[in-house]
This record gives sequence, C-alpha cells and structure tokens, in this order.
Amino acid sequence: MTTVQEERGTEELKALAEQAGRDLEGASASEILKWAAETFGKRFCVTSSMEDAVVAHLASRALPGVDVVFLDTGYHFPETIGTRDAVEAVMDVNVITLTPRQTVAEQDAEYGPRLHDRDPDLCCKLRKVRPLEEGLKDYLAWATGLRRDESPTRANTPVVGWDEKRRKVKVSPIARWTQDDVDAYVAEHGVLTNPLLQDGYASVGCAPCTRRVLEGEDARAGRWAGRAKTECGLHG
Ligand code: SF4
Repeated sequence: MTTVQEERGTEELKALAEQAGRDLEGASASEILKWAAETFGKRFCVTSSMEDAVVAHLASRALPGVDVVFLDTGYHFPETIGTRDAVEAVMDVNVITLTPRQTVAEQDAEYGPRLHDRDPDLCCKLRKVRPLEEGLKDYLAWATGLRRDESPTRANTPVVGWDEKRRKVKVSPIARWTQDDVDAYVAEHGVLTNPLLQDGYASVGCAPCTRRVLEGEDARAGRWAGRAKTECGLHG
C-alpha cells in the first residue's frame, strides 16, 4: 500500500490532518480508524495505557496486526501489566512495549527516590514523554483513547488533529464517546479491561500517582490527586 509519507511533506501532512478533523467530525470510530489505516498503513499505531483495550480492538478491525504501543514506566500496577499481556495473547495486534532509558533504580540513584512526589513533571518527562517521542519516530500517525468527557482539558479534542510537538497526525477515534458508549462497546464485544476499573479506579496510570475516584468526581480526578497536574505531557 502506498502511504502519504512517500508523497507528502510535513506541511501537507498537517493540512491533511486538519482537513480530516473537519471531514470526520461526525464519523464513527470505525470509519475514522479505517481512514487512518488506509492513509498511513503500517506507519500508523495505537497507544494504549492498558486501562482498556477499546481503541486497540477497534483498530485491529481496521488494520489487523496493528502496532499497539504501551509505555512501561516501571511504576505500573500488576493489573496493568496483566492487561497488556492479555491483550497481546488474545487480540490481533502487535504489542510494542517502550521503556525509559533508566530503570527506576537508576533514576533513583541519579535524582533521588520518589521523584514522582517531588517533581512529577520531570518524572513523567523521563518515563513517559521521552520514551514515547523515541518510540513514535517511525510512525506518521498515532491513535489515542482520549475522550472529550474525561476532563475540561480534553473537551476540545479533535477526532483527527495535528500533534505539533511530535509533528505527527494524532487520531482520537472515540473523542466524541461517553463513558456509557465505552461500557456498551466493552459489553458488546467482550473487550479486555483493566481489573482496577472494577475496583473504584476510573482512570489508571502509574501506581504512585493514581487513586480511586470519589462519587461525583471526573474520571481523571484520581490522577496526581492534590496537585495542579492533570496530564502527563503526552497530550499537551
Ligand atoms: Fe512518574 Fe507518576 Fe508520571 Fe508515572 S505518572 S511517570 S510515576 S510522575
């Protein structure tokens, strides 16, 4: 399959993303992923935090064997690693696990223990942002599971947009979905989900920076609770 990278430069890719964002605003998640698969072929991947495998499942139907990129920060709950292993075992996807340059022990030796408590932005940069930048190097487009209803910071997420930081097309096929839509898709297709979602967690990140949510809180209130930080830097 000939993909856009042979034909177009970065500015054209950006224009393509912005046009697709307008054209596909009313499209279904499957249609958006079909467009991405046809446009970018193997230079398209899905990133997953292994909170659930909804986008991976949708993408595997549009592009069987699609690369699913997972960031193993070294701080994940065992349930998250188990979900990653189960996704790899049962779904028609190619799971790629990215790791930071330093182990947690090496980071502790250089920066001191519990950097996540003292400087979470730096910890996220070292353990998430940089590994993802390096891991996405060979792709033209990546898909995320961002949804507009998750938090005010995500309310304007386009279904297809331009990721200026990485200079890639960013696809958010379920941006318009609600939690009810996700739950219905999981139930209909028997999609794998992280067991922590049945244990009071609404959004699953690294163990030291994630707590259960309380009644009435938004889905991401349990991430970096008590701090102004709401995003890890992957989506800003
Ligand atoms: Fe570090 Fe917490 Fe960010 Fe994970 S979420 S990389 S532990 S600061």
